[in-house]
Amino acid sequence: MDKPDNIVFLGTGAAQGAPAAYSPRMASSVSDPRDVRSRSSLRVGTKHQIDAGPDAWYQLQREKQSWDALEHLFVSHTHSDHWYLDGVLQKQDAADHDRKQLRVYLSAPALDWTLRTRHYAQTLVAPDDGQLRDLRTSLEPQISFHVMEFREMYTVGDMQVCAIPGTHTGRVRTDVAMNYVMELPGGFRLLYGVDTGFYAEETIEFLSNTRLDLIVLDCTFGARTDRGSRPTGHLDCHSLVRLIERLDQAGCLASHSSIYATHINPDQGWTHAQMDSFFSKSGYPIRTAWDGLRIGTELSLS
Ligand SMILES: [Zn+2]
Ligand SMILES: [Zn+2]
Repeated sequence: MDKPDNIVFLGTGAAQGAPAAYSPRMASSVSDPRDVRSRSSLRVGTKHQIDAGPDAWYQLQREKQSWDALEHLFVSHTHSDHWYLDGVLQKQDAADHDRKQLRVYLSAPALDWTLRTRHYAQTLVAPDDGQLRDLRTSLEPQISFHVMEFREMYTVGDMQVCAIPGTHTGRVRTDVAMNYVMELPGGFRLLYGVDTGFYAEETIEFLSNTRLDLIVLDCTFGARTDRGSRPTGHLDCHSLVRLIERLDQAGCLASHSSIYATHINPDQGWTHAQMDSFFSKSGYPIRTAWDGLRIGTELSLS
């Protein structure tokens, strides 16, 4: 069995990271290290990971982990802070790259975009369908792609996995972000909602009475209050609490549920401590995640 007590936030930043590259502020001058954020990603045990962004190499070194043991990679959408294909394809350069195939899960539009851009980058020619098939086949000794449909349940390794749609699109408008509900061995169930926005009512109804032991939601725009009560694209602290209230009404929360905000923009106005202070008054056990935070799953499940 995989190690389900070893969920690690590899990164908790939004697209720019924090501080941003174009900011004169340096990470070394940030007083609270939790306010230094690499691009968002979650490792679940040793075999599973959600998203692989441009900071993956640094994150793995920092956590003393590698992708050698990785078997299943879930891609939320094609924005570059979540899906850095060149980094993942370095498996082809690994010394024993054929020893174990990496399985990559994503939506059909995300796979189409991935193969088209890869082909074009190599040839400067737009591919036809046969060339797309050939490219996919050529990668398969090391990496296989698996299309997931929303609201379908899949067995992946020793987990049950279901994707639900965020109200967020990637590089193409048809690439609706996949938010993942994962049930680990033993029944621990997590929702990783990055990137999200406020879920459509039909998505909340789909989740209704699904107990979520760990909820991780995009909180890109933290302190901002100018995006409406049910914003699309990304959440902020206020709308994240409203979404949690809605999920609570739908019967998704248990008394032991843990809730974390992630994917945080560096220019939204609040520090980690200020976000936590806001969440502490929400009536829900919401906390702000930080890079390197580990979550145990040995909670008593009700
Ligand atoms: Zn993002
Ligand atoms: Zn995005």
